[in-house]
Amino acid sequence: MFGKILIANRGEIALRIQRACREVGIRTVVVHSEVDADAKYVKLADESVCIGPAASKDSYLNIPAIISAAEVTDAEAIHPGYGFLSENADFAERVERSGFVFIGPRPESIRLMGDKVSAKRAMVEAGVPTVPGSDGALPEDPREIIRTARAVGYPVIIKASGGGGGRGMRVVHTEAALLSAVTMTRQEAQAAFGNPMVYMEKFLENPRHIEIQVLADQHRNAVWLGERDCSMQRRHQKILEEAPAPGIPRKSIERIGDRCADACRKIDYRGAGTFEFLYENGEFFFIEMNTRVQVEHPVTEMVTGIDIVQYQIRIAAGERLLLRQRDITLRGHAIECRINAEDPYKFTPSPGRITAWHPPGGPGVRVDSHAYSGYFVPPNYDSMIGKVICYGETRDQAIARMRIALSEAVVEGISTNIPLHRELMMDEKFVQGGTSIHYLEKRLAEKKANQG
Ligand code: ADP
Repeated sequence: MFGKILIANRGEIALRIQRACREVGIRTVVVHSEVDADAKYVKLADESVCIGPAASKDSYLNIPAIISAAEVTDAEAIHPGYGFLSENADFAERVERSGFVFIGPRPESIRLMGDKVSAKRAMVEAGVPTVPGSDGALPEDPREIIRTARAVGYPVIIKASGGGGGRGMRVVHTEAALLSAVTMTRQEAQAAFGNPMVYMEKFLENPRHIEIQVLADQHRNAVWLGERDCSMQRRHQKILEEAPAPGIPRKSIERIGDRCADACRKIDYRGAGTFEFLYENGEFFFIEMNTRVQVEHPVTEMVTGIDIVQYQIRIAAGERLLLRQRDITLRGHAIECRINAEDPYKFTPSPGRITAWHPPGGPGVRVDSHAYSGYFVPPNYDSMIGKVICYGETRDQAIARMRIALSEAVVEGISTNIPLHRELMMDEKFVQGGTSIHYLEKRLAEKKANQG
């Protein structure tokens, strides 16, 4: 096992990784930007290194600075968390070439999955069902693009192969709009991701977002840890997640979960990962794989009792997975609300000083957050300041506990989206379970219309 790990991230996930390390006696080095120097998790780490000014490109994305921090502190491995460099294959390669262990998949796997066209192809070969669409990237020939769209059937969605973060996608309803949409998406993709390649998929009108968590070791053992329902989204950004997914037959989840574990063995995947699917009319369609730990991993930890971050570390250290699929049982239900420093209805960021912070507690309540009274939320990064996760023996109990937790939570000095979460916990359709990826936006639009 490693003696010392460098954490190349910030905020709640830096604290989460640190806790996983401390539990097993691994010393931690945290790198931070100037504006994060006073963060509590920086003080709690065994060592810390300032790697640059606030702007991410000068600090959390600054590869040479991170590698030299690992060198001067004699860290053995680097955990990238999520976001920032976590899915950057070049970074993973640089880390390994500099003699450190990258806590994540092999660079080849990151590259394969980072390109959505190659990821989809790999999934087709591994027997994982994908969204019907073009066979790989769209060609230049306009007639062929038109022919493909007719075969797929409208509406279609044009997606950038290099896309991410919900960007680089365009829905097309009619043939008249097709070619200009392809051209525009190509231009945007080139500008945003440096890769003009686009592909086409059938646009599913009312799907749910269901994802499968996997763990795979370096010896071709792989297991899946159940599913998560992340359909509550705004602008393709998740705000609330739960496990298991309400109302989906266990048999069909098991079938898709086994496929994902198989795919890991086939592509020789290592580490934690997530296969994301759209689920509609009883069918799963792969959309992408995330080759890192995800924000919503705690709901899976709550229902499986498995510490995903610790497994990432063990796997990176070369340990064999002793878990077998039959050992993994789901118990109860967990819901996570992402707490963002933003206006709850206008969604404008609300950075600044937190004057009062009273996190909730009680049975089945877990709060993953680096915030505290007096903490300054910098304007430079993602607006998420923490997560409240509630566990119950049943979904109803998890919801009841979340209602209490949110009613206890006090955050003053900045705005947060807690009021929106409180409303969602009372929402009839959410309480029923199984809402589609469009539900939240529709609900927000209706609310706006009623107020205007
Ligand atoms: P990103 O990497 O940018 O997150 P994804 O491929 O994961 O892109 O898609 C993000 C979101 O876009 C999905 O969760 C879903 O809401 C929507 N989406 C993507 N593909 C389709 C599709 N074929 N039909 C309907 N919605 C889609």
